[in-house]
Amino acid sequence: MCCSHFENREQVSGEKAASFDLASVKGMRFFDPHVHMTSRTTDDYQAMADAGVVGLIEPAFWLGQPRTGIDSFRDYYSSLIGWERFRSSQFGIKHYCTIGLNSREANNESLAEQVMEILPLFVYKEGVVGIGEIGFDDQTAAEEKYYRLQLELAKEAGLPVQVHTPHRDKKNGTRRSMDIAIEHGIDPSKVIIDHNNEETVKEVLDRGFWAAFTIYPFTKMGNERMVEIAREYGPDRIMVNSAADWGISDPLAVPKTAALMKLRGISEEAIQLITYGNAIAAFAQSDQIDEADFTSVLSVDQSAKFEGNSILRGGQQPRIDKSSIIIS
Ligand SMILES: [Zn+2]
Repeated sequence: MCCSHFENREQVSGEKAASFDLASVKGMRFFDPHVHMTSRTTDDYQAMADAGVVGLIEPAFWLGQPRTGIDSFRDYYSSLIGWERFRSSQFGIKHYCTIGLNSREANNESLAEQVMEILPLFVYKEGVVGIGEIGFDDQTAAEEKYYRLQLELAKEAGLPVQVHTPHRDKKNGTRRSMDIAIEHGIDPSKVIIDHNNEETVKEVLDRGFWAAFTIYPFTKMGNERMVEIAREYGPDRIMVNSAADWGISDPLAVPKTAALMKLRGISEEAIQLITYGNAIAAFAQSDQIDEADFTSVLSVDQSAKFEGNSILRGGQQPRIDKSSIIIS
């Protein structure tokens, strides 16, 4: 028994080592269009930069426990366009965000009303590339109400929409999200439907929407399944993201999926569309993304400050370039 167990483990770790060898995608550029960096560490930023992530989008979401007042929302949105963007720049990664009221907290209607009032103060800011992540969680009447209101806001602001689809009753929830967007006169080419799986992808693509896939480690949408989807549907209007947050998740999901796709024989051109180009094309409809931005953050100066604060702690020396190993 011990031996078969051992063999099993060997097999799994051997497979993992092959799949996750990032050396095979060295030199490629990646863009993660859904990652909650507020919940991540500087080690994550460093690892992403080293793996070739040059840009990312941080959607506004819920923080794992409900906020109790409007000022918490205000400060959170401010950090997405301020401190977090600065932190990202210190690792040479261009940070964008989407702003919105997430579906879970849409169910607190008295607070949701107040959030709707402050959203216009943030959605027109520089680097805001969409309204998101919005949509359905439990598919309640309140969720629908605030989804519709925010679709109107997206139209008014001329911004793309980043739609969170529910984990329960996903197929119906996804269809309903698309029906409602169309009902509001929003062009499917401006809507990114997120958290797709094998059950939803065909309809999303057939109807002209962008299909995003979240690569969750160990469960749900693993990157092996993503390779099969890429094989079946091709690279058009498909993108992958990590949706890394405060839960068990992997901020390197995008480059790792690229590495696995390469190993499985997907063309480099297709891989670059799925892990870089398509997300940029979709969200550049906000007129807030210029690929030249990615090079402008590359001249990292870690002694820079944001409103008097630096990412360095007492005695640390700023990194001068990417080849230096560690802050001593
Ligand atoms: Zn998210």
